[in-house]
Amino acid sequence: MSTAPLDVLADFPAIPAGWAYLDTAATSQKPRPVIDAITRGYGETYATVHRGVYQRSADMTLAFEAARARVAAFIGGKPEEVVFVRGATEGINLVAQSWAATQLKPGDRILLSALEHHSNIVPWYMAAERVGAAIDVVPLTADHRIDLDAMAAMLTPAHKLVALAHVSNVLGSVLDARRATELAHAVGAKILIDGCQAVARLPVDVAAIGCDFYVFSGHKLYGPTGIGVLWGRYDLLDAMPPWQGGGSMIDRVSFEKISYAPPPGRFEAGTPHIVGVLGLHAAIDYVAGLGLDRIEAHEAALVRSARAALSQINSVRLFGPDDSAGIVSFAVEGVHPHDVATILDEGNVAIRAGHHCAQPLMELLEVPATARASFGVYNGADDIAALVEGIQRVTRIFG
Ligand code: PMP
Repeated sequence: MSTAPLDVLADFPAIPAGWAYLDTAATSQKPRPVIDAITRGYGETYATVHRGVYQRSADMTLAFEAARARVAAFIGGKPEEVVFVRGATEGINLVAQSWAATQLKPGDRILLSALEHHSNIVPWYMAAERVGAAIDVVPLTADHRIDLDAMAAMLTPAHKLVALAHVSNVLGSVLDARRATELAHAVGAKILIDGCQAVARLPVDVAAIGCDFYVFSGHKLYGPTGIGVLWGRYDLLDAMPPWQGGGSMIDRVSFEKISYAPPPGRFEAGTPHIVGVLGLHAAIDYVAGLGLDRIEAHEAALVRSARAALSQINSVRLFGPDDSAGIVSFAVEGVHPHDVATILDEGNVAIRAGHHCAQPLMELLEVPATARASFGVYNGADDIAALVEGIQRVTRIFG
């Protein structure tokens, strides 16, 4: 398999020649079609949605709802199951506050994994505290995947919800989401999959997975910040109370009685991020045009090449499985990850160093932080070479 770029670098005006951008897991760079959609949205077609009777607003409403249908088709759901939120964080908080806070009772249990991002830990912690539920943590296998055999042994009828990352933002480990869903459903638990790192890296089909909720952020999918998606099974969404009140989410309002709109409108109080939604539509068209299968294969090749090269350097310790999706975390013996990232930056290589909003995972790996290189459609063999050269420089500097 080749590590040649997908030949899309020219689509990304914010990536100058010679800059190895290896922080796509934090946020992806934006391709021209996304930038154009945003510029057009504000500069040519702008108006509010769902309210205006004038033509411009009616057209914008059509474009807004067409984006919802595009999101649904992209992940194998139905348009009425797609709730626009600010990002994955907001999507998880919505489920934690609307579903969990009303469905869970004292003594119920929530199952998370040891590699979750803080945004898939803290909202559950808050909900559990509120209702008197408890949280259990699935351990990882020796090669840093969520241990589904251990999960099978841990699950009990007291578990009402399982929430797991589809792809770890630190390790790149890919979850067998279908098996995880079957295990959760076998004890009657619902399952939420955090697809933040998955949607831009592999084909996702919520119907094939069979899960109950799926969340992701637009900005990690080559789209704008401030827009994301909560997908939920319609019967579940329909039984959930609204979590924020305001305009657009109601059926009728009087001071005596309020009735709410059906999903997804019930969960979209206030004027939405209209142009963000248009940008997300363009981003989905862009990645779908490249093909998620191709992107997955391309990033798998980049990961293999990076891991092979880094493992040749004695002082480098690699985390995560060899077949991780687009993300490689590592440590250089005796050098703080922040120093690694700073020296790499001097060589025009942008990586992330820190706890990556996964402090429990850092504790498990027994490190304060990791250095993380994460790939996107624009990366190629030259970026891996620049990374490896930078790490060799780090080892020379630190002896
Ligand atoms: N989950 C995972 C796995 C992530 O990587 C991130 C972002 N780093 C989030 C959740 C939160 O996404 P956002 O900050 O866009 O809401």
